[in-house]
Amino acid sequence: MGIRMAWNAEFLNNLRRSFSIETDKPQLLKAQYKAFSKQLPLMYVILLINSWILSATHISSAPRWLTLDYPIALTVVCAIRFSFWLRTRNIEPSIESTRRALNRTNLIAGPISLSFTIWAIMLFPYGDAYAQSHVAFYMGITVIGCIFCLMHLRPAALTTAAVVNISFVIFFASTGKPTFIATALNVGLVSSIMLMILHVYYRDFTRLVDAQVHAETLSNENLRLANIDSLTMLPNRRKFFTQLHACCQKAQNEGSRFAVGILDLDGFKPVNDLYGHSVGDKLLFAAGQRLQNLCDEDTHLARLGGDEFALIIMHARDDKQLLAFGTILCEALRQPFLIGDTTIQIAASMGLVTYPDMAANATDLFEHADYALYHGKRTNRSMVSVFSTSHSNKIHLDAKIEQALRKADFDQELEVYFQPIINIKTQQIVAFEALARWKSPVLGSVSPAQFIPVAERTGIINQQTRILLAKALAAAAKWPDHIRLSFNLSTHDLSSPDIVQRIVKIIAQAGFDSRRLDLEITETAVMHDIEQVRWATDQIRQLGCGITLDDFGTGYSSLSQLHALSLSKIKIDRSFVTNIERNPASLKIVKSLLALSRDMELDCIIEGVETPEEMAVIREIGGTMVQGYIYSTPIPEAATRQWIEHRLSITE
Ligand code: C2E
Ligand code: MG
Ligand code: MG
Repeated sequence: MGIRMAWNAEFLNNLRRSFSIETDKPQLLKAQYKAFSKQLPLMYVILLINSWILSATHISSAPRWLTLDYPIALTVVCAIRFSFWLRTRNIEPSIESTRRALNRTNLIAGPISLSFTIWAIMLFPYGDAYAQSHVAFYMGITVIGCIFCLMHLRPAALTTAAVVNISFVIFFASTGKPTFIATALNVGLVSSIMLMILHVYYRDFTRLVDAQVHAETLSNENLRLANIDSLTMLPNRRKFFTQLHACCQKAQNEGSRFAVGILDLDGFKPVNDLYGHSVGDKLLFAAGQRLQNLCDEDTHLARLGGDEFALIIMHARDDKQLLAFGTILCEALRQPFLIGDTTIQIAASMGLVTYPDMAANATDLFEHADYALYHGKRTNRSMVSVFSTSHSNKIHLDAKIEQALRKADFDQELEVYFQPIINIKTQQIVAFEALARWKSPVLGSVSPAQFIPVAERTGIINQQTRILLAKALAAAAKWPDHIRLSFNLSTHDLSSPDIVQRIVKIIAQAGFDSRRLDLEITETAVMHDIEQVRWATDQIRQLGCGITLDDFGTGYSSLSQLHALSLSKIKIDRSFVTNIERNPASLKIVKSLLALSRDMELDCIIEGVETPEEMAVIREIGGTMVQGYIYSTPIPEAATRQWIEHRLSITE
């Protein structure tokens, strides 16, 4: 009993489902509508033509209201529906209108099919046996056509089939004529099979749509994942460039201005090295969150990779406001982070560029923001740098330098100048620092501050270093034994074992006591890849050379990292020395750097001393080794001998 009730309930449920549309599946509704709206006009064409043909075969036998008035009324109703479907055939309506249109069709399927059925049955008594057969044929064949056209809307197809076929079978079976009873059986059978086919077709159709929806959801999810950075959950590099291209297009169409910023964390690498990658990852996540909280809906933030983030700032106001916004971002990252129970302090530098004034396409925007960032890092570390005309001029100049470097004959064009480093207590020359000078036949004299970065970027530096080092060593071999040579190496000179070995070979074969040689590496070079630099400096140390950390104070190195490098000297950067007598902050820094070098048992050279006032302060705070214009600018090799003699005569 219970099973039977449950079965009944399920049957009723299925029946109800078959006669209603599935509103919970919007994609199915859309697909139904699309297929259906193309077939429905055809159905009305079949229905009306067949009906008017039936009317014509009865025109002489049946009354006028049945052969003309009634079909005209039906034609008007059908024409209204026909024109509706014809009009909306190529329009994609909203889900709500789709649902309404399909429901309406379901509702009127019953009355329309009933009206046509009643009309056909009313025509049956008129005319001869042929005409009566025509009525049976008309009903049987037209309903099959209609079911076909309605197959994407199961409720309407079922209603039509039920109304027409049940009436047909009952009516023709009741005529008592064997031919019509047989026809009723034929039509009943064909209709049942057709309904079964319709059921299977509709099920497959629904499954197909479901599968399509599933595939679409999956591909949308894949697309989302492909555009997201899994560490910070921010949009990734790929998404950033897609957005950047779209923003360029939009700004071009609207004639609007926007900005692109690239933000790089300062001091992130040491955190990774010191606390491990998992802390580094958490720090990146926290940094991303901080930035995200400061961005509104007009600012798109992305993580490009490593410790680099990028921003697209739509509706860029003037440069002053952009600068202020960038400063807020950098300032936010300067606040300490609490990762687990470790407090971590980092900073951030940012490069900004505006469209269209400073860059006209996505590639230029990215490159110029990057340029402003890295250029800014050298002079304006942990600040915001906006790409300007002077940057643009510099890019042009760099391009010219690059061209000239590629054609240069370095043996001929490169020369080494020397700048003395003096012990201010004894007034003795401690060393000369070798400084590159390039006289290009195309560009004239080019400062190393200009051409070294270009040579580094293009990989020409290694060849230059080898030539300069050989020339410097040859010159230094002629000096008295107590004078050392200090030579600058670039990061790229330490970047691979092969390159380091070639440098080691030059030193070993130079005929200059390598214990009198100091190699200067900059703090930023050290931070680039501490492990590789440590390996490289160990190789150099084995020759007996000293290692000097140049431009000290400009980077973010931690003490423990510097210790690992077995340094012999540090050089305090010129930026802390200029006007030291008037700048208490610089004074404090230089004092503490001196104390630090004493604690670490390292010699300390103070660079860039120009005035007697600066010199007085250096003396007062206990500096001993000084290099600067106050003694001499860099001089050519030929002048070193004279300079050494002159110095010796002063001290004597
Ligand atoms: P650096 O190694 O820090 O060299 C010191 C720079 O400061 C030199 O500039 C020197 O002329 C300048 N200088 C020294 N005393 C004073 C002073 O009292 N006032 C002022 N205003 N400047 C002073 P230079 O020769 O133009 O070299 C610039 C930079 O180019 C160097 O900075 C170094 O980083 C790089 N460089 C120079 N020669 C070489 C080289 O042979 N190889 C490599 N890799 N880099 C080099
Ligand atoms: Mg130097
Ligand atoms: Mg320096």
